[in-house]
Formats: sequence, structure tokens, C-alpha cells
Amino acid sequence: MTALLPWQASAWQRVCVQIADGKMPHGILLAGPPDSGKANFAAGLAAYLLCQGHSKPCGECRQCNFVTAGTHPDLLEVTLEDSKQIRIEQIRALIHWATQTAQQGGYKVCTINPADKLNNQSANALLKVLEEPPPNTLICLVSDQPMRLLPTLRSRCQRIELGTPSQQEAVLWLQGQLDSSADIELLLSIAGGMPLRVLDAIDEDYLKLRLELSSHLVPLAKGDRSPIDVAAVMAKEEVGRVLGLLYQLVSDSIALTLSGGKVIKNRDLSDTIQQYSHLRSVSHRYKLLDHISEALGQLNGTSNPNGQMLLEGVFVKVG
Ligand SMILES: [Zn+2]
Repeated sequence: MTALLPWQASAWQRVCVQIADGKMPHGILLAGPPDSGKANFAAGLAAYLLCQGHSKPCGECRQCNFVTAGTHPDLLEVTLEDSKQIRIEQIRALIHWATQTAQQGGYKVCTINPADKLNNQSANALLKVLEEPPPNTLICLVSDQPMRLLPTLRSRCQRIELGTPSQQEAVLWLQGQLDSSADIELLLSIAGGMPLRVLDAIDEDYLKLRLELSSHLVPLAKGDRSPIDVAAVMAKEEVGRVLGLLYQLVSDSIALTLSGGKVIKNRDLSDTIQQYSHLRSVSHRYKLLDHISEALGQLNGTSNPNGQMLLEGVFVKVG
């Protein structure tokens, strides 16, 4: 587990004070954008509550060792298994676990991530647990789309917002994580200001894919390349990643136009993005963003769409 992230310190302190005062809530909703470190915070909270050492989490006691090994019997992590939803069977297992006495004699902690993937049946079953919470048990819901949770579920939880760090905090932290040759400001900018995303997602493959995709943008917009051909090539990559990258590039071109040429995240691609922004109106590009979002929604939904066809549909709209 990554240590507590510096920009989460105040949220962390608040919850620690609550626990020390014996006012720990039964349900917590950790909300914030993707890659804001929610899972990290949840893992830290679980380690803190389960540790029986002095400065928590001590990393040395028997409980901490169990947590590190992923074998603590009083820590349950519910996540997506072989389905795109968190199924009722998983929540039934959670309920069974919650009604048992803590095996190690302390707290019991359950994290549900991503909680917005609870289906209706699972969410209603979980609600019953939160309405009559077992003692010394924390249920921690983690979500970057908290509005998708049942309102009754949300209202049973104390919400903790984990946002985006300041540019300065992020750069400072990344300097400690990356080697000195990295262009930290560019990487952070490509990652939308999210330093964890820089570490998790912005690797060499990502940067290569970004270059390749950007090379298709102007030819597609000019009609010099067939969307079908480009889709066939790009479908060999992870389709969600391609769509996410295209979204970034198109948004960047809109920001560039609206700022009169000043604001750009992918500054190393400014020539391409500038050229593309002259080919299509802002409203055309906004519509394209809607198409990309829709395609991403389908990809993440339950219908298992064909990736190449999704890309074709979107690339047609670039032109
Ligand atoms: Zn410990």
C-alpha cells in the first residue's frame, strides 16, 4: 500500500479525531474523481482501525501483518468479480461476515469498491446492514460516481471527499516518485492533474498510444483517412484507453480554442491539436465528446459491445 498521500492529510486527521472520540461512523462514502487515491485512503483507514500497535498503523503487529498479507479475517474487500456489477451473492456473504463476532477481537472493516456498481438488489440488501449496523464495524463505500448510489444508501454514510491536489503538492510528491529525467509537469498535465494516474497509467505504452492516436486526428478530420481503417488499427489496443485518450485530445483542443491558444495540456502535441482545432467548430467538437462518452458508457456497461465497432462509430464523427 502507498503511504497516506500528503493532500489527504486533513481528511485523514478529521476521521482519526472521530475515531479517537469514539464517534466512528458505521458507513463512510469515500467520493472523489478517478485516481484521487480513494482506495488508498480506504486501505489506510482499514489498517488504522485493525492495528493493535501503538502508532497506528504500526506495520509490525500481528494485525498489521495479516492486513499486509491480505489474510485479515476481519477485513473484507468487496469488488467486481466476474461480472460488471456487484452481485447479491457478494452482499449476502458480506451480511454473513458482518453478523459474526470479530475474530481478532477488534474492529471489522469492509470496503466496497466501486460501490456505484452495486445493482439494485445488492444495494437494497446492503442498506439493511447500514440501517442496523453491527457494533464496531465500518462499511466503507468507495466511488467516483457517488450520484449513482441509492440516495438512501448515501444518506446512511458519512461522506468524505477526496479531491485533486494542488499543482504544487502534486509536483512535489511526484518528484519523490519518479526519476529526475521525467518531465513531471507535462506528465501531470496529461494525467489531468492526478499524480496517482501518472504512476498507474502514464507509462511508455500509454505515451506511444497517445502519439499514434494523435497522428490520426488531422487526417480523420480532413477525410484523408478512412475511419474504418483507423478503427481496425486502434482496436488492437485497449479500446477504453483509446477512447479516453481521444476524449483528452478533443477536450484539449476545445480548451485551446476557448482560451485563444493559451491553455493546452498536451503541450508537446500543440501543433497537431492546433491544426485539428482549426478544422472543426467548437460545437462539433463538443458533440464528438458526447459520442465518446456514450461509447465509453457502452463499453463499461453490461452489454459487451464490439470494441472495433464502437471505435468506428466514434472515428466517423471526427470527420
Ligand atoms: Zn499494527
